[in-house]
Amino acid sequence: MLTQLAQAVYVVAAVLFILSLAGLSKQTTARGGNLLGMVGMGLALAATVVLALVRSERPALVTALLVAMVFAIGAAAGIWRARSVEMTQMPEMIAILHSFVGLAAVLVGINSYLTEPAAIVHQVEVFLGVLIGAVTLTGSVVAYLKLSAKISSAPLTLPGRNMLNLGALLASAGLMVWFVAANAVVPLLVMTVIALALGWHLVASIGGGDMPVVVSMLNSYSGWAAAAAGFMLSNDLLIVTGALVGSSGAILSYIMCRAMNRSFISVILGGFGVEAGTVVASTGEQGEHRETTAPQVAEMLLEARTVVITPGYGMAVAKAQYPVADLTARLRAAGVHVTFGVHPVAGRLPGHMNVLLAEAKVPYDIVLEMDEVNPDLPGTDVVLVIGANDTVNPAALEDPGSPIAGMPVIEVWKAKHVVVFKRSMATGYAGVQNPLFFRENTEMLFGDAKTQVDAIVAALAAQTAPAAVPAG
Ligand code: NDP
Repeated sequence: MLTQLAQAVYVVAAVLFILSLAGLSKQTTARGGNLLGMVGMGLALAATVVLALVRSERPALVTALLVAMVFAIGAAAGIWRARSVEMTQMPEMIAILHSFVGLAAVLVGINSYLTEPAAIVHQVEVFLGVLIGAVTLTGSVVAYLKLSAKISSAPLTLPGRNMLNLGALLASAGLMVWFVAANAVVPLLVMTVIALALGWHLVASIGGGDMPVVVSMLNSYSGWAAAAAGFMLSNDLLIVTGALVGSSGAILSYIMCRAMNRSFISVILGGFGVEAGTVVASTGEQGEHRETTAPQVAEMLLEARTVVITPGYGMAVAKAQYPVADLTARLRAAGVHVTFGVHPVAGRLPGHMNVLLAEAKVPYDIVLEMDEVNPDLPGTDVVLVIGANDTVNPAALEDPGSPIAGMPVIEVWKAKHVVVFKRSMATGYAGVQNPLFFRENTEMLFGDAKTQVDAIVAALAAQTAPAAVPAG
C-alpha cells in the first residue's frame, strides 16, 4: 500500500517537474516554475524515504537514522553554500554540483555491480552509467576550475587530441565487451580510470569562449548520469528526472551553439576540428583610447534620444544592476528611450544578465535579445557597455584569426557614441583584445561599474528633478 502510494507520488512529482520546466522557459513565469520544482522535489524526497523504509532489509530505525544523517549533512552543506554563494559564483557552483551527480553515478554503479547478481542487461546499465558519470565528474571539476579562474581558460591542445579521445572511446568499448563476457570488476575499474581522464581532457581542450556550451553540456551529461543511476537503482522518478535534465541540457547546448555560431559536434568532442595553433589570443593594445568622466556621460545621456545598455559579466561582479535600474528609471522619466541588449552568453551563466536585471526590477519589455537590438543600433545615440567585453567585440566579425571569430556579437560600434565601463584595458573571459576600445566613437569610463553608475545617477539627480516613476 505504502509502496503504491509512493509510486503515485512519484508520478505527481514527475508532472510537477515538467510543469516547472515549462514555467522556467519565460521570465514572467520563472518564479512559479521554481516553486513547482521545489514542491515536486519535496514530494519526491518524501516518497523516496518511504520507499527506503519499506524496501530496506535493515531494521527500520537503522534506515531512518541513516537517511536522517544523510539529510542533515546534505541540507547543512546545501544551505550554507546557497546562503554564502555570490551571484557571480553561481556558474562555478553549478559546475561543481554537476560533478556530484557524476560521482554519485560512479559510486552507485560500482556498488550496484558488487552487490547485485549480474544479469547482462544490468551489467550494460552499470558500465554505461559509470562511463557517463566518470566523464561528468572530471569534466565538471575542470569546468569549475576554469570558471573560478583557478586554472587558465585557454584550451589545452595536446598533439593528436582527437585521436586520444577516439582511443579512449574505443578502449572503453573493448572493455565493455570484456566486462560482459568475463563478468569481472577489473575492466569496469580500468574503464572508470580512462573515462575520468577522458572527461578531464574533453573539457580542458575547450577554449574560453566556448565554455557556456560546456556548462550546459555538462548539465546534460549530469542528467544522463542521473537517468543511468535511476536504471541501476530501479527508481522510475530518477530515470524521468534524469531524462528531463539530460534532454533540456542538450537542447540548451544546441541553442547556445547556434547563438555562438559554433558546431555542436565540434564542441562536444572537445574542440574537434579546431586546429591547434588557430587559437591565439591577441592581447596587445591597438592604438589610442579616449577616457571620459561620469558627469560628461550624464550630460551626453540627457542629450540623447535613444540609449541602449549592454550589460556583461563586469556588471554582475560590481553588483551594478541596482544603480543601472535607477539610471534607467531616471532617463525614462526624462523622456529618453532606453532599452537593454542582452547577448545570449553575456556573464558566466545562460540567462545571467536577465536574472540580474529582473532582480533589480528592470521592466521585462525593455530587455531585448541580441537579434532584436542589433538592427536598432545604427540609429542609437548612446550605448552604455557596462562590464561587457567579448560579447561586444568587433573582432568576432572582422578578424577571421580571432579565437572568437564567427561568434555573433552586439554591434555597439554602429551607434553614434559608445561608453565602455570597465576598470582597465584588460581582456574579457576569452582573453582577446577588443578593438572597440580604440574606435573613434568609443570612450572609456574606467573604474568599478557600480561606483561609476552611481556617480552618473548623482550627476543626473543634480541636473534633473528626481524620477517620478521608478522602473518596475
Ligand atoms: P567578459 O567576461 O568578456 O568581460 C567582462 C569585463 O568586465 C572584463 O573585461 C572586465 O574588465 C570588466 N569588469 C570586471 N569587473 C568589473 C567591475 N567591478 N566594474 C567594471 N567592469 C568590470 O564579459 P561578457 O559578459 O561580455 O562575455 C562573457 C564571456 O564569458 C564570453 O566570452 C562567454 O563565452 C564567457 N562565458 C559565458 C558563460 C555563459 O553561460 N554566459 C559561461 C562561461 C563563459 P576589467 O577587468 O578591466 O574591469
